[in-house]
Amino acid sequence: MSYLFCNHLRNFSFACLIIAITSTSLSARIFTNTKGKSIDAKIVSVENNKVVLKLLKNKKEYTLDVDSLSEKDQAYIGEWDKSNKTVAESNNDEEQETTSNDSDTPRRSVYGELAYSALKKKYEIKDNFDKEWPNMASAETPDITIVLEDGAKKKYVYQSNNYEFICDVKLSKNVVNKFAHLFEATKEFCQAMPISMVKAHIPKGGKRYKILLFESQQSYFKNGGPIGSAGVYMSRDDIIMVPLTSLGVIKHGSGYRYDYKGANNTLPHEITHQLTNLEYFSPGSMGWFTEGLAEYVAMTDYRSGKFMIRSNIRDIKDAVTGFSKKTNRGRNIGEEFTAPDLKEFMTMSYSNFTANGNFNYGLGALITFYFLQLEDDRTNINAFLKALNEGEKRDDSLEKLLGGRTFSELEEDIAKAWKSKGVEITFK
Ligand SMILES: [Zn+2]
Repeated sequence: MSYLFCNHLRNFSFACLIIAITSTSLSARIFTNTKGKSIDAKIVSVENNKVVLKLLKNKKEYTLDVDSLSEKDQAYIGEWDKSNKTVAESNNDEEQETTSNDSDTPRRSVYGELAYSALKKKYEIKDNFDKEWPNMASAETPDITIVLEDGAKKKYVYQSNNYEFICDVKLSKNVVNKFAHLFEATKEFCQAMPISMVKAHIPKGGKRYKILLFESQQSYFKNGGPIGSAGVYMSRDDIIMVPLTSLGVIKHGSGYRYDYKGANNTLPHEITHQLTNLEYFSPGSMGWFTEGLAEYVAMTDYRSGKFMIRSNIRDIKDAVTGFSKKTNRGRNIGEEFTAPDLKEFMTMSYSNFTANGNFNYGLGALITFYFLQLEDDRTNINAFLKALNEGEKRDDSLEKLLGGRTFSELEEDIAKAWKSKGVEITFK
């Protein structure tokens, strides 16, 4: 396996690059199954919705279905699984190539012809770095086409302007329309941001992004959805996989309906990953920026086809420091906290980044927001992103982000800017 993906654990999103699995010994824990029986054990490995547990009293190993354990245990196993995956990336199935953010080698070559410049050339896309930051992004109600409804094969295919949804149950056009609207609006958001996300600029008809939808969490996990996650982006196949429950689609009688209060606000995070330049997942940006950007989009208020970007500082501050009143989700890291040394944070390996996912995603969102909207202008972030697109090395790209400052000076600037907004960051 070798995908870039990002998943949502409960309400929080964590991302990983898969992944050679190394089992590190973790402290033991009491696991309880759904029938209430408890054992003292530690995890040996997790794969395909099965967990191998080693019992403390007799040192024997047992393989169990993850579903047979309590919800708390399932969440714990999901966390364990995530933090025990090491960063690996590959351009083909046979060979795995380990890359880490510590290396300064850009990732462009991994993606060959899918890279920034090739896409720009193929679809005649121009950079949009000089555009204004948008106040709002919206999409019209999409037209839905039914491409296939094959009950025998349990395959149902629906299309909106830029997306193709492949589902294992039949959905009404009206239901598809509701969640397709969120996908289309997120694409508009990614296109409107002046950070040259070329994949969001592919003209209509040029490409439909594939989304695999699963009726149940079980079928989602069976088909490779990471345990404990509510959605995932896999870069190798350029697909998002998601169970219907994460889209706010719930069973209703013999069919399905869209629940407006459903948990669909996690989805824009994955959609943003799918539209992010592959070069932006390079050493120096992978982690703080890629996750920060996905959080930036996902934390912005969305209502029936519209993202309200102009006022999103409040949404983002609330969702990072506490729980957003609007979305009832958040990272809750507080309004006053100590952060790691900034250079360390920006160059840490991706596995370390996700190991402390909740905090790091929150801090990543604040720092990304700083560069996008709190600096006097976007000269530094633009130069940084251009350097990534050109395939420059990590330290050369970061040099552009610093814009002549040292890392400690940049720490001061970030802390000062956020302090004026009511968040006190103390860098180590
Ligand atoms: Zn992510």
